[in-house]
Amino acid sequence: MRFVVSIMMIMVLAACGAPEVPKAEAGRLNIYTARQYNSDQEIYKAFEEETGIRVRFRDTSAPQLLENMKTEGASSPADVVIAPDVGSLWKFQEAGLLQPVTSDILEAAIPETFRDPEGHWFGLARRARIIVYDPERLNADDIPGYGALADESLKDEVCMRSSSNIYNLSLMAELIERWGEDDAANWAKSVRDNFAREPQGGDTVQIQSIGAGECSIAIVNHYYWVRMITSNADDQRALAEDTAIIFPSVGAGTHVNITGAGVAANAPNRDAAIAFLEFLTSERGQTLLTGPTKEFPMVDGVPLPEGLENLPDFIASDVPMRKLGENQSLAQTLYDKAGWK
Ligand code: FE
Repeated sequence: MRFVVSIMMIMVLAACGAPEVPKAEAGRLNIYTARQYNSDQEIYKAFEEETGIRVRFRDTSAPQLLENMKTEGASSPADVVIAPDVGSLWKFQEAGLLQPVTSDILEAAIPETFRDPEGHWFGLARRARIIVYDPERLNADDIPGYGALADESLKDEVCMRSSSNIYNLSLMAELIERWGEDDAANWAKSVRDNFAREPQGGDTVQIQSIGAGECSIAIVNHYYWVRMITSNADDQRALAEDTAIIFPSVGAGTHVNITGAGVAANAPNRDAAIAFLEFLTSERGQTLLTGPTKEFPMVDGVPLPEGLENLPDFIASDVPMRKLGENQSLAQTLYDKAGWK
């Protein structure tokens, strides 16, 4: 009898004392990001605040994240992949590491050309690849577009970063699309012939090289120049102030790329991942994403980050981002053939 009572007591206790899953555990999100900006942690905090979903992140280069996810396979903890170039997102998609997503919020907020038609990735911020030059040595009128860098009058005047850099690959991918393979290949060769030095350094280094008089023209993403010209560091600001910029045309506007994100193929927290992408299209998300980096917001009506209001108006190319993905490997082949390191 005593035995029966004991069993019943245990059953009653178990019913009353069953621990409830704490709210914070109800949602979790693992982000793999190739954007190595400390400021992005403010985005994660804001998302946690608004949703109660706990965020963990891993930030390293896109190729490294790609390798990690391949190795982890179906047991990868990644929910969201973020990369600062559509070429990188394309590689994740090609490797089967992203899944298609439909979301009325994302589709309404992001123009069609800036997202994958099947929803594997979505553009969240825009970055223009522009020309920076020395106004004491060159005239804006002589630089109508990217094509100008191939002109023989610029012999020994051009500074560039390496051709394996994803920004340069995506630019070439667009030139192939716009001009055709032959013209794009000839451009790469002629630009190579104009190099003041072998490709080296990141975009900021190209601006510094112009400031130092090593060359008089280069191609960089707009935000590197904006960060320098708005810098608190006098030497950096002074270097940028000695240069000028142009938003060149590929024949149909300036080459624009994206920071974008997609939901991982084996995301353990798919709903949280979609909620995070949607949060990034809210005004708060857009502001946290683009304010510190000086990228252009993706969503209409979001205020421009400080420093961008002084840039000239420009027409952005409307080439679909996925075309830049499709042409990635041909782009590298053309650079290699041109001897552009
Ligand atoms: Fe960058």
